[in-house]
Amino acid sequence: MTLSITVASGKGGVGKTTISANLGVALAELGKDVTILDADIEMANLELLFGLEGMKTTLHHVLAGQGPPSDAMYEGPAGVKIIPAGVSLEGLRDADPDMLENVLEELMDQTEILILDSPAGLGKSAVTSLALGQELLLIANPEISSMSDALKTKIVAKKLGAHVMGVVLNRAGTDATDLTIEEVQTILEATVVATVPEDSEVRKASAAGVPLVIKSPNSPAAVAIKKLAADLIGEKYVPHESEKTSFVKRFIGGLFGGR
Ligand code: ADP
Ligand code: MG
Repeated sequence: MTLSITVASGKGGVGKTTISANLGVALAELGKDVTILDADIEMANLELLFGLEGMKTTLHHVLAGQGPPSDAMYEGPAGVKIIPAGVSLEGLRDADPDMLENVLEELMDQTEILILDSPAGLGKSAVTSLALGQELLLIANPEISSMSDALKTKIVAKKLGAHVMGVVLNRAGTDATDLTIEEVQTILEATVVATVPEDSEVRKASAAGVPLVIKSPNSPAAVAIKKLAADLIGEKYVPHESEKTSFVKRFIGGLFGGR
């Protein structure tokens, strides 16, 4: 039985694609069979985070009835499978958004965990991914403008039968006016399951086309996402090898006054 998680927010640019990609890789690193699908068929950018831009066969082809989803599936770090949506306007023109539902149904049972990187807003493909994901992971920034869209998305998802897994507060800690976890929980009536800090490594990783959890596994945002991945599957977070080594080095350095 596939666990499907819709990563949604309402508002654009809050970190859905960043969290989808890195949570997917982190879960794959924990031994899960994970597929990440770019359900943002109009403003696709999942492929950029994996350095997969320019792939000939994408979700657009599948939605144009030119082949099964497996034709547009690529392998990423830790064996995670990625279905990019394609960035060409030509491909988008031929893609039929109504086919998304069939694609998602076809993918069910083909993978252990299916992550749907949902588009912003409440358009057709956003609503389809909200309807087909069993679990909703709501991404929000700790600012008031992010809250009303997140709330709308949550209400629609619940109406469509999804279970709210929780809220990821992304890009936290940038401003003194940041909403607190308690405030966010009260406004959204949902639990904050992770707080991912603002981290300059996120942009560097996306510029390099390598997921953050691989490129900078010890960066604060990567650690927060890896902890979330472990929590989601009920495992204990184990720090990355070099994270442990650097701690030991610092500890020994502190004891003996040297490195
Ligand atoms: P969405 O998919 O919701 O539109 P993205 O994941 O594409 O959002 O993120 C939007 C922008 O914010 C990107 O440039 C991304 O690199 C940046 N970003 C996301 N999360 C963080 C973070 N924790 N720290 C710093 N920059 C971030
Ligand atoms: Mg996105």
